[in-house]
Parts: sequence; structure tokens; C-alpha cells
Amino acid sequence: MIAENIQRIGERISASCLSIKRNPAEIILVCVAKGRSIAEIKEALSLGVKDIGENKIQEALLKYNLMRQEAGDRLKWHMIGHLQRNKVKDAVKLFDLIHSVDSLLLAQEIDQEAGKIGKLQDILLEVKTSPEATKSGFVPQELGRAVELISGLTNLKVKGLMTIAPLGAPLEQVAESARPYFRKLRQLRDDLDKKWLLSMGMSDDFEVAIEEGADLIRLGRAIFSRQ
Ligand SMILES: *Cc1c(COP(=O)(O)O)cnc(C)c1O
Repeated sequence: MIAENIQRIGERISASCLSIKRNPAEIILVCVAKGRSIAEIKEALSLGVKDIGENKIQEALLKYNLMRQEAGDRLKWHMIGHLQRNKVKDAVKLFDLIHSVDSLLLAQEIDQEAGKIGKLQDILLEVKTSPEATKSGFVPQELGRAVELISGLTNLKVKGLMTIAPLGAPLEQVAESARPYFRKLRQLRDDLDKKWLLSMGMSDDFEVAIEEGADLIRLGRAIFSRQ
């Protein structure tokens, strides 16, 4: 099942890229492994997955230790969930890219912990592109100022922006209903730094995200669940 899913996802990524004349090889598929077993994840790895996304530090640490023996340093680890400040020390040791930096305080904490271990930590800034109260992230109006301040921190590097589209639309409308939020993120990026990457798009809306300029898509169910 995972093999068919990944094959099908590859085809869908290619089709979306064709419509916007982009090279599918540029799109990074982050395999969201939260809640999945080691066996499932190993199967995905055997099928060419190189990027793993996790949203909880404890779970990520456990899998990291088991997976490193399997995949050595070929894997890239992505933190996609809300990061508590008291977990930053572990996060910095483990993750290649932290997608979910949602406050100046968190960025400062990451900078400090990265400094202690001599790491330049790659991060994305999470943006609250919709007014939903449950979402975390910088609101668009404060993003410019936050970027200025965060750019002054020497142990981290801002590589781009991340957003999560609001949930709750009826299934057949999920993808299209996400488009305005993805477009908003792209506009913000274009205003700040055109070279920055965009992390947007999940199982139900990744094709729309690619059409709107996604560089990293984060897929869980599309990889691991029966489609
Ligand atoms: C769980 C999660 C995903 C993957 O969601 P699916 O709908 O399973 O593809 C992507 N991004 C974030 C931030 C998540 O928490």
C-alpha cells in the first residue's frame, strides 16, 4: 500500500509541476511519520523517502535513534509541530530544519542552544495566514519586523516560510479552500526574499500548494493510509 501511495504521489507531483512548468525534482516530499510504526517508516525509506517530519520531540528522538542505524546520515529530519521552549535543546540536536518557529522568543532560544553546540540551525518561520484562533505563527503584519530581528541572530538561518491551511472545509473543497492561504504565503515570501522556500501543502491540498509555489510538502495520510 505504501509503495502504491508513494508512486501515485510522485505522479501527482509531476502532473502539478507540469502545469506550472516546474521540475518535480525540486519539490521536497517530507514524509510525516508522527504516529507511524518503525516498520511503516522503514518501508517508506526503502522506497526512496529521504525527509522525515515529526511533531513531537520524544517520539522523534526515539525514531531518530532507531533510524540512524538504518539510514545513516542520508536522512533529513524536519520538525513540523509546535515547539515548546523547554524542548529546544533536543530539537536543535536532532533536526535539520525546524518549520514551526512561531515567535521571536522561540527563535532566540533556538539561537542560544544552537550556539552552545556550534550549529547553524536552519529554520522556517510559521505564518498564521488565516485568522483561526487555533493556529500559531506570526501574523502577516508582524512578519517583517520579526524577520529583521531574527536575521540578527547568528546561530540560525531563516530558509523560508511555512503555513498550515485552515481545516474544516468539506473534503471535496479542501484543496481549493486552501489556495488563498498558500497564495498569501507566497506573496509574503516574494516581498521578503524570493530565494526563500515555502513549506505548505498536506495530504488533501498538496497539488494546490505546488501550483501556488510550494517547495516542501508535508504528507502523512497520503503516504501511510489507504487511499
Ligand atoms: C500531521 C501534519 C501534516 C501531515 O498531515 P496529513 O494530512 O496526514 O498529510 C503536515 N503538517 C503538519 C504541521 C502536521 O501536523
